[in-house]
Amino acid sequence: MTIYCVGCGNVIPWDGKGLFAYTCRCGATLLMDEKGNLIMPASLVLAIAEGRTPAHIDYYVGKSSYTNKVKDKAIEMLKRLGAIWSWECPECRDKVVERTALEVKERLYPFELHPELKKLVMERVK
Ligand SMILES: [Zn+2]
Ligand SMILES: [Zn+2]
Repeated sequence: MTIYCVGCGNVIPWDGKGLFAYTCRCGATLLMDEKGNLIMPASLVLAIAEGRTPAHIDYYVGKSSYTNKVKDKAIEMLKRLGAIWSWECPECRDKVVERTALEVKERLYPFELHPELKKLVMERVK
């Protein structure tokens, strides 16, 4: 079985064993199999089961500009559950923009940024 990152579409190296917890370089923790079935981190499974608002959307799908059908659907589902992007959160916005600006400067983030986050980062670095 091949596992892909929902956030950037890259193949995830996984031996298929053990409890699965993986954070991709794009920042995503949400994965899918080759049929497009979501493989959700435990925190998201629990949030859904308990009817709680999940963590920020980018915690699950990362902050890259990559899109596909599965990612769009996952974002829709997270929004329905009440989740927002961390840069839409008054508490997190500054931190995430600052950290991302640093990552961009140091070339530590190897993906094109989500357009909304990119705009905020560009305003920060100029
Ligand atoms: Zn990824
Ligand atoms: Zn927040």
